Amino acid sequence: MKLATFTEGGSTRIGVVVGEEITDLAAAAPGLPRDMVALLEAGEAALDAARAAADGGGSRLPLTSVKLEAPILRPPKFIGIGLNYKDHIEETGSKTPEYPMIFNKQTTCVTGPGDPVHLPRASHVLDYEGELGLVIGRRCRHVPKERANEVIAGYTIVNDVSVRDWQLRVPTMTIGKSFDTHGPMGPWLVTKDEVSDPHSLHLQTFVNDEKRQDSNTKELLFNCFDLIEHLSTAFTLEPGDVIATGTSSGVGIGFRPPKLLVAGDVVRIEIEGIGVLQNEIIEEPESTTLI
Ligand code: ZN
Repeated sequence: MKLATFTEGGSTRIGVVVGEEITDLAAAAPGLPRDMVALLEAGEAALDAARAAADGGGSRLPLTSVKLEAPILRPPKFIGIGLNYKDHIEETGSKTPEYPMIFNKQTTCVTGPGDPVHLPRASHVLDYEGELGLVIGRRCRHVPKERANEVIAGYTIVNDVSVRDWQLRVPTMTIGKSFDTHGPMGPWLVTKDEVSDPHSLHLQTFVNDEKRQDSNTKELLFNCFDLIEHLSTAFTLEPGDVIATGTSSGVGIGFRPPKLLVAGDVVRIEIEGIGVLQNEIIEEPESTTLI
């Protein structure tokens, strides 16, 4: 099942994408929550009810008539993993990490499929990172990797947009990973029952149709299950938490000379079995100043 958050007629709600249509769950299953985190919190029974409503065939809207949003508008946690693909470690000339290199993306950076990504006023050293996003489905702690699949809701695509100079000039990467609009996510959440092996997915990133990244999630150093065991040893994971699992080789900064993003560029990330996430780069508008 492809669960999406969408806006139509001035209201934002959730639905199930079926082909070129979306079942509006607010109409087809009015008893269900209207928000993705609340739906995930409601557990398997709620997901089954959503599935049944979609199978019923009623209350469908053409996908072209709605605006898809990030499937999780404001994840409780948005965690990134640095240096987690073998080819990317080589490209950066870094040592293979002994432990997962965790950082936070501030949740205010989340934006949706098709939404503009800002080339910040503060820096033009802008880069893309196409990544498999793992979404937590159940409140959990101390999860052994053998049981990690039980706490996963599903998968999405994340562009871990990075401002490289801000990222690299201090030891913690958080600020360079957290500029507003630098967490595009979507186009939907594919529930885990539709992803037979999350560690065998072809992943590609294109900039203006030039292929930049071409890898497979089998190259992950710490896979989804390892990450859940590691993270949940320290803290509780909650429904709607998103873990961007890391990027492969082919980021802009890895080219000689670097191929950084400029206004007008379109970044498209494709992951087998998940979908396509596309965003255009624009100059940060004046309207972002809020004082
Ligand atoms: Zn990343």
